[in-house]
Amino acid sequence: MYREGMPGTQPLADEAILRLVDECENECASIFRSFDKVAEKGQYKVLSAMKKARLSDTHFSFTTGYGYDDAGRQATEKIFADVFGAESSLVRTQIVNGTHAIFTVFSGILRPGETLLYCTGEPYDSLFQGIGLTGDSRNSLASHGIGYKQTGLLENGGIDFPALEKALTPDVKMACIQRATGYSSRRALLIDEIAQWAAFVKSRSPDVVTMVDNCYGEFLEESEPTEVGVDIVAGSLIKNPGGGLALSGGYIAGKSQLVGLAAERLTCPGIGGECGLTFGQTRNILQGLFLAPGAVRNAVRGAVLAAAVMGRLGFDVKPLPGDPRSDIVQTITLGSKEGLIAFCEGIQAASPVDAFASPIPAPMPGYEDEVVMAAGGFVTGSTLELSADGPVREPFNVYFQGGLTYEHAKTGVISAAERLRIKGFPG
Ligand SMILES: *Cc1c(COP(=O)(O)O)cnc(C)c1O
Repeated sequence: MYREGMPGTQPLADEAILRLVDECENECASIFRSFDKVAEKGQYKVLSAMKKARLSDTHFSFTTGYGYDDAGRQATEKIFADVFGAESSLVRTQIVNGTHAIFTVFSGILRPGETLLYCTGEPYDSLFQGIGLTGDSRNSLASHGIGYKQTGLLENGGIDFPALEKALTPDVKMACIQRATGYSSRRALLIDEIAQWAAFVKSRSPDVVTMVDNCYGEFLEESEPTEVGVDIVAGSLIKNPGGGLALSGGYIAGKSQLVGLAAERLTCPGIGGECGLTFGQTRNILQGLFLAPGAVRNAVRGAVLAAAVMGRLGFDVKPLPGDPRSDIVQTITLGSKEGLIAFCEGIQAASPVDAFASPIPAPMPGYEDEVVMAAGGFVTGSTLELSADGPVREPFNVYFQGGLTYEHAKTGVISAAERLRIKGFPG
């Protein structure tokens, strides 16, 4: 269609790029199909949870004031808990993002003298200040006397079990995994690896709380970390589980006692999860959850296509098109600031909102380097919608993700490839 140029439109890209993308799409057909089973299982889980909670129209209205006994909030949290195979959950618009959800878990559970152990190398950039690795906040874990240490990943991207064994000293109270790639060049950890890790930690140190930063990982595999032995997970509603419809918020799911501690940190002791309005967001959040398994499948197909196309154009990509996936993020190494910007310009130009804007590098609260972002979604900052972003630092990786529909993700890939071509990449 865009080939012919509809009245008033121009072909989206150079003929050679359109041909390349079609070729890659054909080559990826069986990979694409492999995601159907996971989406079906996810859809069934969500549907079953909604039926079990006897979800009805009345749950979409909301209380005011304190929000005691808000039926919609309670149903939502029951449904999330079920979908994640957890005892309970907190699903709140008051959780402002994924960083806040994760930090709420840390600060609710860890006490002075205890140590947080990361088992996947450095945590996500936006957690540095909360942990106290940078900055000088009086509210960081460090300034409350909570220690931090980490073990790195092996050459193959897997958990370093011998290092982990040594690191599990008596002061360690929580062991954490970041499931997704984040702003690094590592791969995402698979659910089987997470299960093995959780079992290992429990076998050595039964009292250590296992936690997974689940951002970008939801619905990528048939099980979630809390279904395979992990104590608690946290993530963002404007990523996978919000299905593109949740306007804001975060979730925490896991053992009731731990979720309760996090809830007391989010609000205060004595109140916990018993208060807090939904502000009428229950419908968006639940309909988003309902659409999430399919949207995640569309996004991951888009990521595979991006890997295939950008790989053929000569850029390093991770994961490779056929690699197993446990997040929706596709890393593409562009090798220069100009390449990074050109890619993001292509994605921005293919966005339904703010397509006219030009992404430029800028400082971002909570991030150490300048970040360039292409984001033109219906929900600002939603990265289950087609988006690309990357810190302006070597090796100039762009993190491409999202696409509520596969067709949109494909359009984004074409547009980014075209923009790179116009700018003379790869050079
Ligand atoms: C997005 C993300 C977070 C949290 O980010 P927010 O922007 O605060 O929602 C944490 N960890 C990982 C791996 C992420 O991708």
